[in-house]
Amino acid sequence: MRIDNEPKLDFDDVLIRPKRSEAPSRASIVLQREYRFLNSEATWKGIPIVASNMDTVGTMAMAEALGPEMMTCLHKHYSEGRLVDFFKNAVHRASTFFTLGIKDEEFEKLRTVKTKVDLRFICVDAANGYTRYFVERVKRIRETFPQLTIMAGNVATPDMVQELLISGAADIVKIGIGPGSVCTTRLMTGVGYPQLSAIIECADAAHGLRGHVCADGGCRSPGDVVKAFAAGADFVMLGGMLAGVDECEGEWAEKEGKRVALAFYGMSSRKALDKYSGGRRDYRACEGREIEIQYKGPVKETIQEITGGIRSACAYVGATRLKDLSKCTTFVICSRPTGKD
Ligand code: 5GP
Repeated sequence: MRIDNEPKLDFDDVLIRPKRSEAPSRASIVLQREYRFLNSEATWKGIPIVASNMDTVGTMAMAEALGPEMMTCLHKHYSEGRLVDFFKNAVHRASTFFTLGIKDEEFEKLRTVKTKVDLRFICVDAANGYTRYFVERVKRIRETFPQLTIMAGNVATPDMVQELLISGAADIVKIGIGPGSVCTTRLMTGVGYPQLSAIIECADAAHGLRGHVCADGGCRSPGDVVKAFAAGADFVMLGGMLAGVDECEGEWAEKEGKRVALAFYGMSSRKALDKYSGGRRDYRACEGREIEIQYKGPVKETIQEITGGIRSACAYVGATRLKDLSKCTTFVICSRPTGKD
């Protein structure tokens, strides 16, 4: 057993110090980023916010509303037929990830869909991205489809980011073990890593190799999204913050014919396991829970709050582009959690 004595930080442990600067006007701040990916050598330009591949949030309606400027990871439970129809539309292809896990049948589904439409982005998703099997699976996908842009995860430490970028030949590594709003991994297993430090350390490792990272989980407010970008995230993935919008699918509670709340649950919760895996297996604990999220209206409104927060933060630190936010940022460590006002 070892103890790492260096303090590790979560979003709530820090604030961003305002700086004297030629404050750019908020409207002129450029939120678009342009990336060239390490292994696929493809390029992408847009606002690097990604809807999570949870079945309530990673929907085709979400992809239609966010794309092509922002990205969506479709959940992996759509049928082949629906996916083929969806990806036939070139506009959606340019900003939407096809998601798969590590099962052989999921690989076969990817192969089938790929023969029918020209996919560009895929997300290989496993709760635990640390296994050799996972790296081998990512590598196999890369060998089979050299031109696909591959996002793979989740991990939370630089060693595994490097492993996935080099051995697995991923383009983007997804960062986050345990921070999710409906995740109970930390409670059930004691395993995890404070998300802000995970992003800082993993972004450093990835950028040294010309790879990219997507911060996944733990953002509860526009300020958290800002902190994730300021910590070095190239993309920020959102689940709970985008749950409860019109574009979500699932069980809505209604009052007088109007939506009031959405049942939002982790993809390893009992609810999701019952729905998709025929119930929980004995050896596997549920690592997700179910909550209710108030109805929020169209996703565009939530996105406006987030992009407004990012613009304002850039103005506070003197960054004219989102690209410069990280290098303009000094985090101050707070003695009490910052949370919400
Ligand atoms: P949020 O933005 O809601 O804080 O986090 C979303 C992320 O939580 C997802 O993209 C995914 O990585 C993670 N997640 C979703 N469902 C579960 C679950 O049941 N268990 C765990 N451990 N993580 C989950």
